[in-house]
Amino acid sequence: MLHVLKIWPQYFPAVADGRKPFEIRWNDRNFKAGDTAILREFVPCPSCLGKGCSDCLALPDKGTYTGRALHRNITVVSDFAQSQEFVVLGLSPYGIDEAKPSDQP
Ligand SMILES: [Zn+2]
Repeated sequence: MLHVLKIWPQYFPAVADGRKPFEIRWNDRNFKAGDTAILREFVPCPSCLGKGCSDCLALPDKGTYTGRALHRNITVVSDFAQSQEFVVLGLSPYGIDEAKPSDQP
């Protein structure tokens, strides 16, 4: 199964360069080892951090996508010692990540 997820800019670089081969996520979508994920860099509305306010009513998902995205395999899913309904996802790269137009040569 493919999961298309948001990732905030402060977390994007460490996942992109492999320093952070995991994510901690609310498990609202029944993540399974062997699933794939596309992590789309997303800047939430600065006024409400994506909770929803008059500034972002017109924006899809209450923020903006930068155009960068990471393609990852979900290698393991663990709920050990996590808050209820949260899981740790182990990630490994697959395919080619998507760059912003300005990042391309
Ligand atoms: Zn807002």
